[in-house]
Amino acid sequence: MTDRPRVRFAPSPTGELHVGNARTALFNWMFARHTGGSFILRIEDTDESRSLLSYQVSLLEDLQWLGLDWDEGPDRGGAYGPYRQSERLHIYADHLKKLLAAEMAYPCYCTQEELEEERQSLILSRRMPRYMGKCRGLTDDERAGLEAAGRKPAYRFKVPPATIEFDDLIRGPVRFESDAIGDFIIVRSNGMPSYNFAVVIDDHLMRITHVIRGEDHLSNTASQIMLYRAFGFEPPAFAHHCLILGRDHAKLSKRHGSVSVGEFRRRGYLPEALINYLGLLGSSFAGGREILSREEMIEAFSLERASKSGAVFDEEKLRWLNAHYIRNLPVDDLMRRLEPFLNQARYEAQAMEPGRLKMAIESVHDELTDLSNIGEHIDLFFDGRYEATPEARQVLAAPAAHEVISAFCEYLDGAEGAPSQIYAAALGHARKKTGLKGRELFMPVRAALTGRVKGPQLDQVFTILGADTAGKRLRQVLREG
Ligand code: GLU
Repeated sequence: MTDRPRVRFAPSPTGELHVGNARTALFNWMFARHTGGSFILRIEDTDESRSLLSYQVSLLEDLQWLGLDWDEGPDRGGAYGPYRQSERLHIYADHLKKLLAAEMAYPCYCTQEELEEERQSLILSRRMPRYMGKCRGLTDDERAGLEAAGRKPAYRFKVPPATIEFDDLIRGPVRFESDAIGDFIIVRSNGMPSYNFAVVIDDHLMRITHVIRGEDHLSNTASQIMLYRAFGFEPPAFAHHCLILGRDHAKLSKRHGSVSVGEFRRRGYLPEALINYLGLLGSSFAGGREILSREEMIEAFSLERASKSGAVFDEEKLRWLNAHYIRNLPVDDLMRRLEPFLNQARYEAQAMEPGRLKMAIESVHDELTDLSNIGEHIDLFFDGRYEATPEARQVLAAPAAHEVISAFCEYLDGAEGAPSQIYAAALGHARKKTGLKGRELFMPVRAALTGRVKGPQLDQVFTILGADTAGKRLRQVLREG
């Protein structure tokens, strides 16, 4: 079974997981699960100045939260580790030696200033800025002289004249001419490998069969294929998918709003909704289906579909999906997921006995579009946590409102029985006494009990508050006039 597909997600821990990268991870994961292959997580942390351990931790957490489980990775090992590039430096060093011995690579002593000067002069003469190979032909003596003068070399790949062609599984035939590519750095002067160098060695040694990534890496693929050839490695199949765009059709970035998985998580989105949305983005599945479970998405996945789904990120649609998934959660599951948000909004569970809190949450369940706004929905159940809206004040200012409320209260005095029965009877009493019905009857009660003109069903509100608290709130309104 050596030909089972092996794919990888290879994030650099230089920031929170971007939804675009999460979509790349999702495509790789779905491909692996659809084909019965393996999904490998590799951390590309060779950019020491930008890689942070905290980002590595949050990347793993976000992937786990999304449910994109990996078969091999830094935390769980595997037959082809280590899975962190910073732990593989000796492997890159050995491969550099091979290229140097074959004279396919050479040390370059140019300083940043010299390289910048070359770039500017190429731009001025309207030529493509690239490294023109100044250090390619240095003699051993010249090299020794530069090193004696304290220069530390970077190492460059000797780009051979070549046409690079490959069949992208999403984009079809792709062709590059190598003369547009200057000799590129494979190992920096600080000893760290460049992305293109490390990725080729790792993908080869980790037996990756398919590289599925964003189209922003398309031109890197040309450099990588040249390295595959230089080492005599068989390249994997490549599939470059489109990127997620903002409303202005530019690549989705921070200025468009929330772009990281962590932000959506903190804003109370469910992983089910985000995964479904990222899988759907830009199109629908067969039969126009838009709501799919993980299993259904795996089943329906094809690279062909991924190709069509470069699209504008539509937060409204994501919100709609989120509301759908929240509505479908069993209430105990919802309670569990709400816990951090309740704590954050300082609605500690102790503030209300659990049975009541559960009822309060059930009464607003269908209204929730994300978990983080739970506080705004249940504040009406907590004395002192809500304030009457202008609309509610207007309702209460009508002369008939006080008649309704005082008739309602009249019944409450000494009433006994289940709250829902007391509520129905009190409303009946108020109806009889005032001759009002419909909105005119219940709106003042709603406004007085909840400070709002909209909200959960009134009998539920009354039951959750209990007759005593409800009575207190109604009398308070009467007192305030
Ligand atoms: N570390 C690279 C990135 O995050 C990986 C690109 C690739 O998949 O080759 O963009």
